[in-house]
Amino acid sequence: MLRVQSLSSYYGNIQALRGISIHVGYGEIVTLLGANGAGKTTTIRMLIGLLRPTSGEISVGGIDVLKYPEKVRKIIGYMSQKFSLYEDLTVEENLNFFGGVYGLSNQDLQRRKKELLELTDMLGWEKYLTKELSTGMKQRLGLAVSIIHKPRIVFLDEPTSGTDPLSRRNFWRIIQNLAQEGICVFVTTHFLEEAEYCNKISMIDAGKIIATGSP
Ligand code: ATP
Repeated sequence: MLRVQSLSSYYGNIQALRGISIHVGYGEIVTLLGANGAGKTTTIRMLIGLLRPTSGEISVGGIDVLKYPEKVRKIIGYMSQKFSLYEDLTVEENLNFFGGVYGLSNQDLQRRKKELLELTDMLGWEKYLTKELSTGMKQRLGLAVSIIHKPRIVFLDEPTSGTDPLSRRNFWRIIQNLAQEGICVFVTTHFLEEAEYCNKISMIDAGKIIATGSP
């Protein structure tokens, strides 16, 4: 589903990534684990076509991301560290907005909203303003909007930072349900304990993958 080969990148003279290679198989949950500044966000932004690497190859679902970034966008979901939610819209309005952005028909949107509210344990919260939600709930809503168009792979950038252990565990349960539905998950984290929830883990340090394997 995802094949990354020898990815390198610079910010000015500083080398942020030093030849990163990662593979994600169909149905897999893969974690990129590393400390602050290791290069996780830079990597994820390249994988989804938001940043261009200096060198390397990236393909998602067989599509070359560097050549066809627009094509890739239809089959991926992305949740950034700061979520893209609108705080002054309600939970339902955020879902409606992002469903509209992805061009879902009204019928599909109604069905998908129900599925996502169930999946993320947010039934009953539709009319609440997003700014009234706890961080853990915002994360779950952020995940819901990032997969509203049923992507084949979703990229989550440190989705669980800033929440308590119980929220983190709940969030990982949702991620595992996604994988069971056949959506691949690529997730970054700096919590070592989260490694146990994924199929494969790559450790990144100073822009280099220093180990890859099962938890
Ligand atoms: P965090 O957990 O803090 O987000 P990270 O693992 O995601 O960290 P990156 O944000 O990818 O790390 O940063 C990798 C390296 O590149 C760091 O040394 C960082 O200081 C540097 N860097 C990131 N963005 C820029 C930028 N826009 N300009 C210059 N240097 C940058």
